[in-house]
Amino acid sequence: MIKKPKGTYDIYGQDAIMYNYIEEVIKNEMNINNVNYIRTPLFESRDLFHRSVGLSADIVTKESYDFTDRANRNLTLRPEATASIVRSLIENKLYSNNSNVIKYYYLGTMYRYERPGAGRNREFTQFGVEAFNSASVITDANIISMGYNILNNLGIECTVYLNTLGDEETRINYTNALKEYFKEHLDELCPDCKNRYDKNILRILDCKVDSGSELFENMPKLKDYLTIDATNKFNELKSLLNLLEIDYVYDDTIVRGLDYYTDIVYEFKSGDSLALGGGGRYDKLVENLEGPSVPATGFALGLERVMLALKDKELLSKEIDAFILSISKEEKYNALKIMNILKLNGYSVEMCDTDVSLKSQFKMADKLNSKYLIFLNDEDLNKGLVTIKDNVLKTEEKIDESEITDYFYDNL
Ligand code: AMP
Repeated sequence: MIKKPKGTYDIYGQDAIMYNYIEEVIKNEMNINNVNYIRTPLFESRDLFHRSVGLSADIVTKESYDFTDRANRNLTLRPEATASIVRSLIENKLYSNNSNVIKYYYLGTMYRYERPGAGRNREFTQFGVEAFNSASVITDANIISMGYNILNNLGIECTVYLNTLGDEETRINYTNALKEYFKEHLDELCPDCKNRYDKNILRILDCKVDSGSELFENMPKLKDYLTIDATNKFNELKSLLNLLEIDYVYDDTIVRGLDYYTDIVYEFKSGDSLALGGGGRYDKLVENLEGPSVPATGFALGLERVMLALKDKELLSKEIDAFILSISKEEKYNALKIMNILKLNGYSVEMCDTDVSLKSQFKMADKLNSKYLIFLNDEDLNKGLVTIKDNVLKTEEKIDESEITDYFYDNL
């Protein structure tokens, strides 16, 4: 038997219902926020991720699905979408003639060669929003509220864990302080951190191996290097989140795994679970990828993690408008015809195509939480009649077959 590759999964049954429901809530939130959909390729030139996500980020150094195509081009299955959206913004000049904020959302598959576990897959789905053209903290607050509202609308209580990496001056001063501090201790660092020391020392803050050691406990703290401007900006964001009644906490351990973040960074968490999503500002990325100077901010949510957070909730059961019960071939032909008419009018209807007992068909209708049952029998059909039962009120009436659409129009 051929099995699915490690770290991938099939989605069906309750999970599929839940997945579609999450997508629906996301799309609704995007509509009311006037955010446009954007779709970019599943694979991109390898350089794109190396130059954007960064040479010291795990998703490029250890986890990327790199391959060469038949013409020997170096390609990578996308590990995240921000780099692709920025590439598209530049390539299609989506930034031109627009003085207001440009907002896009994406929803699609990402690939990372990670060690699989609960909420950690090699193929997974991210939904994200990216906003360009605004350096205003108002945009950060607005974007954060979209992720927060989606999780809340799904019934997930979440908190935003918030930090700031400061402005350029902050990062230069802090980078120098870290370099100075770790200079004498290079031998005590894990191999990854030794590498990070040269490539991007800020990534050391993300280390899972060395964190907790005395050396790490005593290292200089980013918050002591924040400039007045960076502190003011961070305080402004916090007051805007208060205004929007968004639950947040300050967490200076949040640095995010990608090199392109420049200022505000955050994660969405629910209880002790793995982060459901995260994001931040990346004001230099468009420029670094040879575009104009365009400030940007955004976040991504992982749908598998959102599904895990929803696992215990019983809110998702399938529901249809009607189930047509039929036994003989004649009844089934009529059921097919009536079902088609109702579906053309926008009602969700199901019937049983195969020869099974009425008892089994009742069970099928119950499983689908059918609001109405339609009974057909040859005798009634000859007179042009059908019986409709309200499955909630348990009332029943016989109506003319030609009035069936009107019946649903009046009652549903
Ligand atoms: P990142 O792009 O690393 O900031 O991740 C954003 C969100 O994507 C995370 O908070 C997770 O919800 C989700 N995510 C990242 N990596 C994985 C993975 N390997 N499997 C499942 N979800 C993931």
